[in-house]
Amino acid sequence: MEAGSARRVVILGSGPAGLTAAIYTARADLEPLVIEGEPSSTSDQPGGQLMLTTEVENFPGFPGAIMGPQLMMSMREQAEKFGAEIVTRKATRVDLSSRPIGIWTGEPTAPEPDIRTEALIISTGARSLMLGLENEARLLGYGVSTCATCDGFFFRDKKIVVVGGGDSALEEALFLTKFGESVTVVHRRKQLRASKIMQDRAFKNDKVDFVWDSVVTDVLGSEKVSGVVLQNVVTGEETTMAADGLFVAIGHAPNTTLFAGQLEMDENGYLKTTGGTGTGVAGVFACGDVQDHVYRQAVTAAGSGCMAAIDTERYLASVE
Ligand code: NAP
Repeated sequence: MEAGSARRVVILGSGPAGLTAAIYTARADLEPLVIEGEPSSTSDQPGGQLMLTTEVENFPGFPGAIMGPQLMMSMREQAEKFGAEIVTRKATRVDLSSRPIGIWTGEPTAPEPDIRTEALIISTGARSLMLGLENEARLLGYGVSTCATCDGFFFRDKKIVVVGGGDSALEEALFLTKFGESVTVVHRRKQLRASKIMQDRAFKNDKVDFVWDSVVTDVLGSEKVSGVVLQNVVTGEETTMAADGLFVAIGHAPNTTLFAGQLEMDENGYLKTTGGTGTGVAGVFACGDVQDHVYRQAVTAAGSGCMAAIDTERYLASVE
């Protein structure tokens, strides 16, 4: 990518939505540039959240399951095969009011953008939410994790706590049973939010047990995690539980700070889309988890990436 380069389509994000948009716009000869993010932070995970999962059993076409990273590598290869250019950079600022649209990938206060584009597809996805505890942040990487696939290996024969009650929490818990001596799921209610199939699997697994109606109020340990403090939300009672690892799996937040004040968002910061994938700003489209807090599946993200590509193609045809 050359400095000050001018493009017809830029795609921000390289999860299933962004890469599907890249495949479609590349096949439409729009020579898309994909800014995939940098691997330094969870919110910019190139390849998106599937890079942090193990087996994907529900992506159509793979009856024997496929590993998340393998699926993303295949999508990437497919996009590049049709001419998409993928760069490992992070967008630091966008100006959606100028035409062409300006995108900065370096110093955001620089007077000129690094890239100008006629159309922009936003597929920046969502990131893991954290509990917000001081010691959780201090011990992140030292027993606190948001990714069982990445860190499970370090917890062989250890006591593990997973916090959350959704599909992510149970998926993490079940995966961690391969390593841990025990896996305790701490959930703030008595009913899980997770799908029935995941609940059945977790209830059947001897290594998984549950602490209901409880929240984690502190993480113990000086250099690495040694335990957690739990509070029963019904009785108020506090207890300490010995643990070597705490996996936080309490949901996600959209990566939309870049667009604050420029695009309409809902109360949780997800981009609002209308009439397909339109954001309300001409030539700017959004797809995947950044605009979907309801379905949040790889296949729906990919589907909306396809929609964004077709909307972009039609937009460019209408203005050119
Ligand atoms: P989620 O469904 O939003 O669940 C988040 C869980 O964390 C909920 O049980 C919630 O409790 C709990 N929670 C939220 N904030 C908390 C806090 N501050 N302290 C303690 N607990 C807190 O998120 P998710 O599990 O990440 O799943 C997101 C979407 O991805 C879902 O649609 C899910 O089906 C999908 N997904 C699918 C798969 C799969 O199919 N294999 C795997 C992973 C995710 P409450 O229940 O009380 O609100």
